[in-house]
Amino acid sequence: MPWRSTPHTPAPGIIPGMLALELHAHTRASEDSLTRPADIVRVCERRGIDRIAITDHNSIRGALEAQALSPERVIVGEEIMTTQGELLAYFVTEEIPARLEPLDVIARLRAQGAAISVSHPFDRYRGGAWREADLRVIAPLVDAIEVFNARCVHAEDNARALRFARELGLAGSVGSDAHTLREVGRARLLAARADSAADLVAAFKAGQATTRLSSPAIHLASRGAKLWKQTTRLLRAGRKESA
Ligand SMILES: [Zn+2]
Repeated sequence: MPWRSTPHTPAPGIIPGMLALELHAHTRASEDSLTRPADIVRVCERRGIDRIAITDHNSIRGALEAQALSPERVIVGEEIMTTQGELLAYFVTEEIPARLEPLDVIARLRAQGAAISVSHPFDRYRGGAWREADLRVIAPLVDAIEVFNARCVHAEDNARALRFARELGLAGSVGSDAHTLREVGRARLLAARADSAADLVAAFKAGQATTRLSSPAIHLASRGAKLWKQTTRLLRAGRKESA
């Protein structure tokens, strides 16, 4: 576990009027998580997480269960293992099975109006990481690249995803990739609205996020050494730099 065993503290610097979104979280519908949907919903209420996308591995079962408990707060998502790497999808209505070609998965997601990001694309320890050459083929077809995943052990792997997104002018998503309750809300995207896939895409483009980094990852945000790090405008600043 890359985490410090500190208890959760609320995030300072939340921008009034903006919704805080947790966009990468698992429940017991994933083989590698024991989290009950009811508990994750309760934790979101407590921590001021306005929307949570439940993104179980190749399943929307846990997300649907959570959504039934908290219809407004829960976005039905899925983390889909393709033949080349993992994709994150939001506002999923029809579950996508594992091990399809990425182009097939993207087409199926587009047909149901979902928003699409790419999970931890360069995390060296994940089976679902991407070869850069493969990622370049699908990059123009997705809405965002996950430029910060709180579970990345090597900060460089997140930094590489951010550089990749900047280079191609792509928007970014962030996520805790929470497999336990403790992790929920470590990385939050801020959004003006989050009622539809289009709202999420707009939030990806705005690039405002609050991420809590374990100390080895702190250099991603590059300034200061506080645990809570405002990465607001990180992507936009990056685009300007590379423009
Ligand atoms: Zn995940």
